[in-house]
Amino acid sequence: MTDIKKLTKEKLFLPDATRGAVRFLTTKQLKETGTKGLVTNTLHLLINYGADHIKDLGGIKKLMIWDGMVLTDSGGFQVFSLIHSGKWKGKIHKDGAIFKSPRDGTEYELTPESSIDIQMKIDGDVLVCLDDCRETDLTREEAEESVERTIAWAKKCRKHFDNKYGGTKKTGKLLTCVVQGANYIDLRKECAQALVDIGFDGYNFGGFVVNEEGQLVLDEMKAVIDNTPEDKIKYAMGVGKPQDIREASKIGYNWFDTVLVTRNARHGTLYSSDIPDEILRIKNAEYANDLKPIDSKCDCEVCQNHSRAYVHHLLKIGEATGMTLATIHNLRYYQKLINNLN
Ligand SMILES: [Zn+2]
Repeated sequence: MTDIKKLTKEKLFLPDATRGAVRFLTTKQLKETGTKGLVTNTLHLLINYGADHIKDLGGIKKLMIWDGMVLTDSGGFQVFSLIHSGKWKGKIHKDGAIFKSPRDGTEYELTPESSIDIQMKIDGDVLVCLDDCRETDLTREEAEESVERTIAWAKKCRKHFDNKYGGTKKTGKLLTCVVQGANYIDLRKECAQALVDIGFDGYNFGGFVVNEEGQLVLDEMKAVIDNTPEDKIKYAMGVGKPQDIREASKIGYNWFDTVLVTRNARHGTLYSSDIPDEILRIKNAEYANDLKPIDSKCDCEVCQNHSRAYVHHLLKIGEATGMTLATIHNLRYYQKLINNLN
């Protein structure tokens, strides 16, 4: 069994097992990359499996046979962005959102309480409060409203988790919240302090982590660190590139996730310490006859046994095994990056 409390102090990279699997990997292969925890996507699990169905089958960890940590997101980020972009039909209101699944037309309501209920049914280890995440370039007024709702919803989540389920004491699960405030430093501070007053096991950085130039918003991120207790989880959601993880780690963040690691792998963008900017585009013609491993310092199954030429060939023709090998290597690269931060 995973000691969740112990993990709160460790640096972790959490791959996205969006629909209950890291694409192209078995649970055994995932474990062998050194992965200690993963993130599942509450919205995708809800509309593809159904929360009750997962509960009836014993929860996501039992289904995956995964004895590491599982963090469930609140579902809010996807639901709100799908509604904002007009891709999904739905309405955001002061207590959450109502939306229709494009899959079968089922109507769902996501509220602070229902998000906790769904996450409890999925049965991971770390829950995230529903927060009011919005698009970029918020006016002061919009950012203030988002902070106000985020605090009110966090309060409701805390109350519901404690009253209905008995909180951490009864469930062994941890509850984290999300700090909003867009690019207004004082709002980030205000939001963080109000959430600390309610009390959580972790304070996650919400909203956009990079600006239009692709730079990490370090000042905003630091405002959250400076106003939250040192011994709690600091999860930089959606961070990121190797260099961004190193920078966010330096200022005090310890949990990271990004879909890029596995998505890049499938598209042939691999990581290698042999290349100056760490990016090796394996599909490039220069690797067609290259018998060296992807990364000469990597101890993964792929680098120990296969050449760049082999992975190049498999990915060029869209062979699924190529995706598996690329994903194993990229995840191992990130887990080693994280180990080197500790
Ligand atoms: Zn490797």
